[in-house]
Amino acid sequence: MWASVERTKKSLRSSTARLLRVRRSLLFGHESLGEVIEIGSGVTQVEVGDIAVPTVRRPCSDPACIACRADRQDFCYTGKFTERGINQRHGYMAELVVEQERYLNPVPRALRDVAVLVEPLTIAEKGIAQLNQIQQRLPWQERGSRAVVLGGGPVGLLGAMKLVLEGCDTTVYSRTPAASDLEKLVTSFGAKFAHAETTSIADLARQVGNIDVVYEAVGASSLAFEVLPYLGTNGVFIFTGVPGRKGPTSVDTDTLMRDAVLKNQLIFGTVNASIESFADAIADIGSFLEKWPAALRSLITRRWPLDQAAEPLAGKSGCIKNVIAIGS
Ligand SMILES: [Zn+2]
Repeated sequence: MWASVERTKKSLRSSTARLLRVRRSLLFGHESLGEVIEIGSGVTQVEVGDIAVPTVRRPCSDPACIACRADRQDFCYTGKFTERGINQRHGYMAELVVEQERYLNPVPRALRDVAVLVEPLTIAEKGIAQLNQIQQRLPWQERGSRAVVLGGGPVGLLGAMKLVLEGCDTTVYSRTPAASDLEKLVTSFGAKFAHAETTSIADLARQVGNIDVVYEAVGASSLAFEVLPYLGTNGVFIFTGVPGRKGPTSVDTDTLMRDAVLKNQLIFGTVNASIESFADAIADIGSFLEKWPAALRSLITRRWPLDQAAEPLAGKSGCIKNVIAIGS
């Protein structure tokens, strides 16, 4: 046990050393929940004792970037935004963090043990808000679209919960090995589950019927583009994953383009989230907790003390979501 932890620490030290060569340092952690312990004299919206989830992206400084100037840095035009824990700004994996109140989203105390899931849910909130805007083109469509979620990780599962909450007939399609626990979890909040080992994509499409929405949360372009030909008439395909560059893949571009035109399909990508999406996510985490408390809580597989953070950071624990608890 000690040996393996030491190896993990050694490998982290060497990754950190590589990182230090690129920039001086970067503290990780963009998903977080914290408690306000001190406020400055000009603060009016948060109080000592509040718990809050901070946003991640900070605007670029270009006066011509109308998105950032409108507080919508999630649509930044210049690409010169910064992000806490990801891009040029320290993250939240620290005992003390200083933040401007405009970037803090207060959370009801009742959500304290699950509110760390707010940030990953904001991805679905922004994507599904856009989906709902797009599908206003179908004024006859009532609640009950048929949705497929690709991926059984935290982003996929939270997206699936949101789609179920929206009244969608939702199927989670996963390639995760030994997925029996995942199937139980997915069905416990009212979604269906299909495993890639036993269900081909063609079978999935037959089972679902006209696929109105695909919510991609797996970050694997090969799987996404295998599913795309099965997107239904008037369907919308939402990309949220950022795949690594694994080299070119063949796709039948004629079929994809013909379908996009002849079936009125829309394919879009979405990244980051606005302050409104954080407010929506906080409200929806409250709804999830009320409707499916066990399922929501089970997304947090384990909480780790800071001095053991090397283990979950090394990605060897096989959990859905690891939380590193700092302080009380
Ligand atoms: Zn910008």
